[in-house]
This record gives sequence, C-alpha cells and structure tokens, in this order.
Amino acid sequence: MSEQNPNGYRVLARKYRPDRFSELIGQEALVRTLGNALTLGRLAHAFVLTGVRGVGKTSTARLLARGLNCIGEDGNGEATLEPCGTCEPCQAIGAGRHVDVLEIDAASHTGVDDAREIIEGVGYRPVSARFKIYIIDEVHMMSKSAFNALLKTLEEPPDNVKFIFATTEIRKVPVTILSRCQRFDLRRVPADELAGHLTRICERENINAEAEAVTAIARAAEGSVRDALSLLDQAAAMTADKLSPDSIADMLGRPGRQDSITILGAALKGDAAGALAALASAMANGAEPEMVIADLLDLVHRASLKAAGGSLEALLEVEKAPVSELAELGIARLGRAWQMLLKGHGEVTSAPQPGAAAEMLVIRLAHLANMPTPGEIVRKLADSAPAAPQQTAPATPDASPADPPATPPADPPPAMMAAGHGEPTAPVPPQPVTAPPVATPDAAPETRAAAQPTTLLDISELADAHDEPLLAALIRTHVRLVRMQPGLLEINLTDGAPETLPGDMARQLTRWTDTRWMVSLSDGAGGRTISEERQAARQKQRDDLAETPVIKSIFETFPGAEIESVRPAGQQDEEPSQ
Ligand SMILES: [Zn+2]
Repeated sequence: MSEQNPNGYRVLARKYRPDRFSELIGQEALVRTLGNALTLGRLAHAFVLTGVRGVGKTSTARLLARGLNCIGEDGNGEATLEPCGTCEPCQAIGAGRHVDVLEIDAASHTGVDDAREIIEGVGYRPVSARFKIYIIDEVHMMSKSAFNALLKTLEEPPDNVKFIFATTEIRKVPVTILSRCQRFDLRRVPADELAGHLTRICERENINAEAEAVTAIARAAEGSVRDALSLLDQAAAMTADKLSPDSIADMLGRPGRQDSITILGAALKGDAAGALAALASAMANGAEPEMVIADLLDLVHRASLKAAGGSLEALLEVEKAPVSELAELGIARLGRAWQMLLKGHGEVTSAPQPGAAAEMLVIRLAHLANMPTPGEIVRKLADSAPAAPQQTAPATPDASPADPPATPPADPPPAMMAAGHGEPTAPVPPQPVTAPPVATPDAAPETRAAAQPTTLLDISELADAHDEPLLAALIRTHVRLVRMQPGLLEINLTDGAPETLPGDMARQLTRWTDTRWMVSLSDGAGGRTISEERQAARQKQRDDLAETPVIKSIFETFPGAEIESVRPAGQQDEEPSQ
C-alpha cells in the first residue's frame, strides 16, 4: 500500500526514482563525465546541475551524494559511481535522513541568514560520513547577499564539504558562483527513450497500454521523466481496461497525433473538407482547439527541420513516415504554413469560440495550399511572358538620391576631373557615334564630332559618363524639359532646385560636347522629370502585373499585400525606390 496515494494512484515517479546512475534515463553524457571525475579523483568541491523541471536534477543530486558517501557493503568502499544502496549512508541518504547530507530548497530559504547558517555549519566536520554535502535546489532563487556569503565558502572550501546546486535557470546564477562549480546540463529525455522507459514500467506494473498511448504520454511529457510517470499514473487510474490513444487524448485535452497528422496533411494538400472532418473528430475526442493548433505547429516545425536536411532522430518511430511526407512540401510552403498557424494560434486562444477560430484557420491553411509560393510565381511569370518583367528604365547606374542636396555642385574637384574620364558606362546614345564622348579639357581635336544629346535622358547619361553623379541626379530630379535643339535647352525647374543648375548644365554640356550650349529658364509648360517618368513607368508595370491572374489571386488571399518591386527572374537588386 505504500506505493498508493490516497487517490488510489500508484506513485510511479517515487517508485521508479533511480537508485543508481545506470538507471538515469537519457543522461549518459553526465554519467560518463562524473564517472571519469570519480575514477581520476578529480571531483570538484561544487557541482551545478541544470535542466528543465523533471529531468532528474534532484535524483541526480541524491545519487551523487550517495556515491560520494557510500562505504560499500563491507564498510570499506571508496566514493563510487555505483553506490551499493545497502550500506548505512546509502540507506540514510536515500530516505533523506542523513545528518551530513542537507537538502535546502532555495525557493523557500532565500535570505542571508540561511546562507550564514550554512557557512556556520561548514566549519564543523561531518558527523559520520566522508563528506558533508549541501544540496541546494533552485539555487538561482537565493538572494544576492546569500550568494555573496556562499561565495566566500566556495573560495576556500574545506576538504570534506561538497556543494550540489540544482537550478532550472542557470542564467540567474552569478558567474562568480558558476566559475567555481563543475557544471552538468541534464538534457530533456528524447520522446522515444521516454516511451521505452514507460513501456518497461507498464510491463512491470501490469498496466495494459497500446504502444500509441504510451508514445502519446511520452510526447506530452516533453522530456520530463517525472511528468511522464505522473501522467502514466493518472491514465492508469482513470482507465480500468487497456490504455488507448483516445483515452490519453481525452485525459490530456490534446489531439491524438494521428488526428493532427490527418488535419495538417489534408490542409496542406488543399483539402479543406478532409481537414475539417479530422479537426471535428479530434475536438469530439476532447482535444482543446488551442492544443490542436499547437500540435500542428509542432508537426510543421519538425517537417521543416527535416526539409532543411535535419534528422528525424527526435521523433517517435510512428511519426517518422508522415513527417517525412510533410517535409516533401518544401521549406517555402512549410514556412508559410508556420506563419499562418503561429498567427492563428493567438487568434484561437483569444477567440470567444476557439473551435470556430480553429476551423477558420484550417480553412485558410487549405486555401493557402493552392497558392503558388513566391518562387513559383516568378518561375510562372518567366515562363508565360519571357519579356514581361523587364525594367522599363534604362540600366543607367542610378545615382539619384531621394533628397538631393540643396547646394549645386561647384566645379568638379580635381580628383573627379582626373578619374575615370573617357570610360562611358551609359548605353549607346541614340545618335550614331564615331567616338565616345571624350571630354577632358585638353581633349584632342578629333573628338569634336562627339555625339550631341537630344533628350534630357541623354544629358543625364552624359553627366554620369563624365563622373558627375551629383549633377546627373540633379538633372533627373529637378529638370523639366520645355524645348531642346542642338546647342539650346529651354527648361524649368522643380521646387528646391539649386539656382545654379542651369549654369552648371550649360558649362558642362559645352565641355562634354565641345559645342556651345545655352540653357535658359522658360515659362513654358515643361514635361515630367526623368525621376517622375521612371516612377510612372514602374507604377504602370505594377498595375499591369496586378491585372495578371496569378497576382490577382495572391491579392485575394493576402488582403493588403502590395507589389513592392518588379525585377526579372533571378535578379537580386532593385534600384532604390524613390
Ligand atoms: Zn552504499
């Protein structure tokens, strides 16, 4: 009867608390390291055990205390990784009544007085054991002054005193303390290892359970042996006959994994009806809508890991095939599903009718599944209209800044004069050319036949070609063309244009073309600036694109979506938007 609590539950977690390190589930690395330290006689004075709740920190601390103080069945044993469990120290420590092994819960003893008590006690030799051992649980909860008091002891620990700290939040433990401890990270126990452990216990306890029921418990425990055993306790107490996945789902309020796989599989194939039916079945079995969505998120996460080349090791055997199948949808689709589920999870949590919100989410997911991914859209566009998404603006190196400086360029600085002349990068000017427009001040006479600009764009390109990016930018943003003929330019300027711009243009044009140019301000109506032209062209491209069926369907699925830029397939860069 000692293993039954008043509610009739068998307290499996207590009954199956490990008695030796070899019984610690899933902590092989820790056991190996401790074993090495013991055999080499290089044991630290202080240990810190960290890990999520229920992974076995306290069990490990007690085992360690036993191992350190075990004297063996004959009373002559040394500290060991295999405490005998029968000697007096082993028995007393196991029962929590050894005078030299003190367990302190820092969560309830946080003051400096407790630390002082400890320090005062540290001065005395152990009463009967080899070591006086302080096990301090949740050590991160200690006050700063308590840490300081503890630190003094840790700096010069007596030979026969050991500290074992346990914490779920290692980051809250001061580095000064940590640096004096040997640290062990207890990992979450993988679900399949946990399932194996539960299966063995079921056999010993004559608990009749389907394999899938056991794996459902193992998954729900999220790596905690203690939680897994408590859940098994509860499940066994609730059900007289065989534990089934349904009974576990019922108890946990979670969907059976098979339900989740069916919902997600159908939704991601665009089968809204199938997904809704599976969702209804899961909810009828007692699954909370929020838990269903959380489970779908978990599946998408695992499938994405697999799609990204990760392993399926953390998965239960029965999950591997369906998760692999989901992974074949590819990272783009899974990532999109993740985003939608994550957002939807919040909606389901806060909705007045969570069930309805979950159904809406599943419908959206199925609808989305029929939409192409951005990569597929680009490919589709490229296939259907090879020449369509081209930049309408010429591929001039675009230097137009969003906010042109208020002051015009002075005479080009000497460095600019010297560098890069005669290396036009602009497209070929519209007029036939015999020589590139070389325009250094001492240019040779034969360059007199340089091409003459006939459009505003030509002029801005000339400026670019002559390493005058600032002037080129000013021309593009501020100049409206009224009239143009060889040697004569009538323009007007937009607000904010530098007054000296017409003069600068005239001077440079004359230099670049070796022809005298006059630039005058006109009252006549000017056209659009080059920047405005480009903007309009880009807008038209967007508008045209928005009329294509593919993009239309995207807009319907993602209200509020906008076309931000258009570029040929495979091209990464887009000129800065104005
Ligand atoms: Zn012993």
